[in-house]
Amino acid sequence: MNSRTEFPSAALETAVSRSDFDALMVPTYAPSTVVPVRGQGVWLDDAEGRRYLDFTSGIGVTSLGHAHPAVLEALHRQAEQVWHIGNGYTNQPVLRLARALTSLTFADRVFVANSGAEANEAALKLARKYGKTRGAQRTRIVSCLQSFHGRTLFTVSVGGQPKYTEGFEPLPPGISHIAFNDIAAAEAAIGDDVCAVIVEPVQGEGGVLPASREYLQALRKLCDERGALLIFDEVQCGMGRTGKLFAHEHYGVVPDILTTAKALGNGFPVGAMLTRSDIAAAFSVGAHGTTYGGNPLACAVALSVVSTIAQPAFLERTRQAADRLWTGLQRLQAAFPQLFKQVRGSGMMVGLVLADAYKGRAKEFTRLTEQHQLLTLMAGPDVVRLLPPLVVSDAEIDEALARLQICAGEFVAKA
Ligand SMILES: *Cc1c(COP(=O)(O)O)cnc(C)c1O
Repeated sequence: MNSRTEFPSAALETAVSRSDFDALMVPTYAPSTVVPVRGQGVWLDDAEGRRYLDFTSGIGVTSLGHAHPAVLEALHRQAEQVWHIGNGYTNQPVLRLARALTSLTFADRVFVANSGAEANEAALKLARKYGKTRGAQRTRIVSCLQSFHGRTLFTVSVGGQPKYTEGFEPLPPGISHIAFNDIAAAEAAIGDDVCAVIVEPVQGEGGVLPASREYLQALRKLCDERGALLIFDEVQCGMGRTGKLFAHEHYGVVPDILTTAKALGNGFPVGAMLTRSDIAAAFSVGAHGTTYGGNPLACAVALSVVSTIAQPAFLERTRQAADRLWTGLQRLQAAFPQLFKQVRGSGMMVGLVLADAYKGRAKEFTRLTEQHQLLTLMAGPDVVRLLPPLVVSDAEIDEALARLQICAGEFVAKA
């Protein structure tokens, strides 16, 4: 235990390293020994000057790369105007952001929050409130196994991964889980007590699994027939990640509520829930809120991100980059069929599925790519996940593919 001492101002600049993590932090993470100190585009430097090719985007967040000039400019400009006002006043950045998001989507109402979990929390609470307007019994939420919707008690309970709720019981009631991409299961589960179905158009944490077109179309039809709202959680797959501004645009299916976060702020914490005015009306003044939600700094940053990513030429280049990456990864998979059994995902959201002989070793593979100064992610124990910044160049894609090739060779040789 520390005894309290006078705070030394030198502590503001004190040397820290990975070894301090276990001594100082609540042990919710087990971070790498690499401590990045600077980022530029697709590259991260550690304190020793080692340079890493970042194919994680901080888990799908820094889609415009590190230190993107337009985002930096927006942040600096707003920082000199006003940082925070409180919800007793509105502000120009939040209104401009809401105008941009509504003009680009099905939605005509926006709630701004600080994270993906908060955006989903708002969506689920709104669905419950709206459900009440259509019958006292309409309270059940249906979600998919393997899904991920955040870490608040409500969102983690709605998520379909029991390992994340273990020990946090009692959990909120009125939630059912069904198999993803299983239309018959949805038909059986969506009764007239259901207020909402929530689904990721491309499951991220659950293993980089796209929904089938038939599945999302069937969910839309079932929700319409049985009076439930359809919520798309696009916290990870949205904001250009799949080559469209939002992933559901690939499917020809429109939700009633959409949530976005992660890449929305390119690293500045912000999330948003988008919906229609007839549904939004179920939230009256005072029904929901958050101190920081819609603050001018976050919204100025998010507006610069949205107005960059939503450009047709930007999305077209994202699709081109994804084609190059997929071609290379399919070649890699063909060269190492004993290691990778499948390449799956959508656009710049890709999973390399380990062959059965390598089951459970995705974490180990990401550690090897880190040694080769390429940062990658896992998505469950058997999937190596790549979420490169959407601004990645052809040369940087080729460099990542070359490093993956070397890693695959080493991984197979040592096994
Ligand atoms: C990351 C994620 C969340 C949670 O977002 P936070 O900002 O970490 O709260 C919710 N849904 C999906 C699909 C995610 O990938």
